[in-house]
Amino acid sequence: TVKGMSSRCYHAETMSVEKLKAGAVGLIGIRSDANSTFMRGVAEAPVAIRRALHNGSSSLCSELGVDVGHHTGFVDLGDRVIGSNVEDFLAIEDHVGDVLRQGLLPLVLGGDHAITYPIMRAIHAALGPVNVLHFDAHPDLYDDYEGNPYSHASPFARILEDGLIKRLVLVGIRTLNTHLREQVERFGVEVHEMKDLDLGSVGNDFDGPVFISFDMDALDPAFAPGVSHHEPGGLATRDVLTVIQRVTQPVIGADIVELNPSRDINDMTAMVAAKLVKEIAGKMLQDTE
Ligand code: MN
Ligand code: MN
Repeated sequence: TVKGMSSRCYHAETMSVEKLKAGAVGLIGIRSDANSTFMRGVAEAPVAIRRALHNGSSSLCSELGVDVGHHTGFVDLGDRVIGSNVEDFLAIEDHVGDVLRQGLLPLVLGGDHAITYPIMRAIHAALGPVNVLHFDAHPDLYDDYEGNPYSHASPFARILEDGLIKRLVLVGIRTLNTHLREQVERFGVEVHEMKDLDLGSVGNDFDGPVFISFDMDALDPAFAPGVSHHEPGGLATRDVLTVIQRVTQPVIGADIVELNPSRDINDMTAMVAAKLVKEIAGKMLQDTE
């Protein structure tokens, strides 16, 4: 457990996936970027993603045939604005816990990737350890980054230290250094690096519920230029949709993080994020019907 982390417990009992309302997803925006490095701006992402989602250029019907826009189980819970202090940051756990307590599976719009730590605390409190499918250019496994244990470069180190998840599978990685390779070894993380990626072997071998954590910089900057950390040589939009659609186990939650509208070009990255909302929500609704 991280120093200074209070061990609050708001749950008397752990609920099961089955106890959550069948086919119900709660969309929630977490406007937080205080734990970013290099630049700010991702706190504006939920606004940009909602605008793209509802701009009228496309229906909200997913490729899997789920009409997300007219589905009674798709509930938009609005945004939470997160201050730059640690208390506000750790309270993200309660915001996501509220979604779960309403019987809804959380679909969270970040925000920087730091938020996945309090999100997974909430998921663990409600559902126990689940599998995580993490799309990213970066593994976000730094033991320490610029002295901030909650940095967006470190959420998965904190998640694994706390034993919050069952299995971590990384896809799209192209930034491993010596320290990060050691962290991968230390925590037993499964990494699909871009340099030797075989997409056919990703996402179809989970043995239980899956949480999808999607960092927009997993995509090549050609598809998603609106991110703070451009890392060329990434995934194509089509590839990630195919992997997500092929997940055989139920998707019980997701986050879509690191869209930086101030870096976007003609809202094209916001449109990709909106497409991911539609496809991931469609998958979650279908899986839990
Ligand atoms: Mn990340
Ligand atoms: Mn990243």
